[in-house]
Amino acid sequence: MHSLPDSFAHFTACPDCDLLLQKAEAPTGYSVVCPRCGKTLSRSSAASISKVLALSIAGLLLYLPAMLLPLMTFKSFGFSGSANILESILNFYRNDYYFVALMVLLSAVVFPLILLTTIFYITYKLQRKRYPSVLRALFRLHLHLEEWAMIEVYLLGILITIIKMSGTSSIAYHSGILCFSCLVLITLAISTIVDRDLFWQIIEDEGGEGKVEVLPGQHDQEAPQTAAEKGLILCHTCHKLSSVSLAGSGCPRCRAILQQRKPHSVARTWALVITSTIFLAPANLLPIMEVDFLGIPDRSTIVDGIIHFLQDGSYFIGLIILTASILIPVFKIVGLLILLRATRPGHDHFLVQKARLYRFIAFVGRWSMLDIFVIALLSVLVNYGFFTSIHTAPAATYFAFVVAATMFAAMTFDPRIIWDSHAVKENSQHHEQPATLLGKTP
Ligand SMILES: [Zn+2]
Ligand SMILES: [Zn+2]
Repeated sequence: MHSLPDSFAHFTACPDCDLLLQKAEAPTGYSVVCPRCGKTLSRSSAASISKVLALSIAGLLLYLPAMLLPLMTFKSFGFSGSANILESILNFYRNDYYFVALMVLLSAVVFPLILLTTIFYITYKLQRKRYPSVLRALFRLHLHLEEWAMIEVYLLGILITIIKMSGTSSIAYHSGILCFSCLVLITLAISTIVDRDLFWQIIEDEGGEGKVEVLPGQHDQEAPQTAAEKGLILCHTCHKLSSVSLAGSGCPRCRAILQQRKPHSVARTWALVITSTIFLAPANLLPIMEVDFLGIPDRSTIVDGIIHFLQDGSYFIGLIILTASILIPVFKIVGLLILLRATRPGHDHFLVQKARLYRFIAFVGRWSMLDIFVIALLSVLVNYGFFTSIHTAPAATYFAFVVAATMFAAMTFDPRIIWDSHAVKENSQHHEQPATLLGKTP
């Protein structure tokens, strides 16, 4: 395959700043870090296909019980309400909160199942040394959906619901909560163990060594350059380096369309940031939850909910909700504005900090769904007839919009544009080290 000139066979590029680097394998306990922007490029991890296969089988066996068995029952005033994950979503649907229902359904039910199924099929085939071409499409799908599956956020939502109601209701726990917690642990373990570069390499080499080449002491003496400057292009999905002549066509490894930079990244990110800012107002000003007590409805906004926790002395939960529902969305919008400004010429200070900011924004976005998950559970669990019942209120839809829009904004932003706006040489003149740098695994 002549996708890459031979002289670059042992090179790769940083996905966050496009700096051209020599491939290196991290010794145990270390990770390979980009010397320019600090991005972790690879970690040392044993090629544990069988481990991931075993975990994915366990996850699939637990999946249905985790989704369908009741989690817990709340009892008060002689009434009781129990819920499983699916019911908490159906309840949004029954009350006409279609967008919220869809978002919770996808993030807590559908995407986790697709992730487990795809990684099971991929590791099963790799284990049997079979490499059908569909593996590439499936692994691509797996990597794209990882960010949108949020069962660990849902688990935190369950914990907060329990703490919130423990004062006023008696709570009985069922097997569903155990199955769901195990499912979360398994999913987290899989995403930690799966090394995307290693898996891509095994799929591409159809077995092969599955190892990244090490080239000791053979680094370039000339100033570092980006892949773009050398006429190369890094695949956004599988991080394979190809010749720029392939731009617009499929990546030779994963078949994703190759693009030098994400198309219209700045304009699209602006549009999504503005959209999220507009929805942020109704999400915070309108009530998000309604508590009917003895027939009298009491509607509360996100801020009311937080104040309620703080007045109750539940400072820890109050702070978690404050962080997830208000600080993270606002931080994301402000952060993205800073990054958008950094793409303009002349704004080239603190570039490493801005690169870190980008990675933090991309990591933290999904945790904003916390409040929605708590409301999903409360509105099913707390239904004590005439005495007390909890319902979703209109801000939930706007809030779900904000979460989705800010996540899409972080995804459409291409951090390499920040680095494009000024030459590599200027920035790297202080660096005397080789193009690959070893840093301790955080
Ligand atoms: Zn970098
Ligand atoms: Zn690719």
